[in-house]
Amino acid sequence: MLQIEDVHARYGHVHALRGVSLSVREGETVTLIGANGAGKSTLMTSILGAPRISSGRIRFQGASLQGLGVHEISRRGIAISPEGRRVFPRMTVTENLLMGATFADPATRGTDMQRMFDMFPILSERSQQLAGTLSGGEQQMLAIARALMSHPRLLLMDEPSLGLAPIYIRKVFEIIEMLNRDHGMTILLVEQNANQALRVAHRAYVLQQGSIVMSGTGRELLQSPEVRAAYLEGGKSHNDPAVAAVA
Ligand code: ATP
Repeated sequence: MLQIEDVHARYGHVHALRGVSLSVREGETVTLIGANGAGKSTLMTSILGAPRISSGRIRFQGASLQGLGVHEISRRGIAISPEGRRVFPRMTVTENLLMGATFADPATRGTDMQRMFDMFPILSERSQQLAGTLSGGEQQMLAIARALMSHPRLLLMDEPSLGLAPIYIRKVFEIIEMLNRDHGMTILLVEQNANQALRVAHRAYVLQQGSIVMSGTGRELLQSPEVRAAYLEGGKSHNDPAVAAVA
């Protein structure tokens, strides 16, 4: 469904992606793990055209995404639940959900909204509350629901568990599993919580300093001594690129 081939991306003199290749097949949950600054968010946002890649190819359902605006990419079936959630704080929950449906069929908005309220009952309870006054976990539910309002074929999830209380971290991973298993959603998940991410993923890639250094099934990477040492054990070691040298 998504093919990324030999992609390079730069911010000025910072060479953030250095020849990244990965693929996501229809129906899969694929996770990308890596230390702070490895380039995970850059890879996610470059799929949506910002930053523009300096070389390489990104194809979705057989067609190139290069040069397309974010609206056209959304229309083709890709949605993101962004890092840091980025809900519209001065809008209500309902208004935030409607923003997610901007490019969807207006005729289905009512049923789509009800679907989200059924999936995330807390959003139904909070429907008229300003999004900025929701808890971090509630905002994350809203960010995921808002992305789903556009009926994506591919859902990009950038650090959905970041900064959440343990109860919401568990909930976020349950939602990821539920979306994939019960709704057939194809998911590309970026996470620092490597342990949980590898458990829910069919396949996974390890990104280190802008390059993919390892890939395999979620189970294979969970059992890999290098991944365990760099990302799963040893407390803060996953934040240290020197310790995270798994190549
Ligand atoms: P984290 O887990 O901390 O979010 P990440 O793996 O998502 O990290 P990126 O945010 O993609 O990493 O950053 C990759 C590299 O690109 C880093 O060196 C970062 O400093 C740099 N970078 C990211 N965004 C910009 C920007 N807007 N301008 C300049 N450099 C940037």
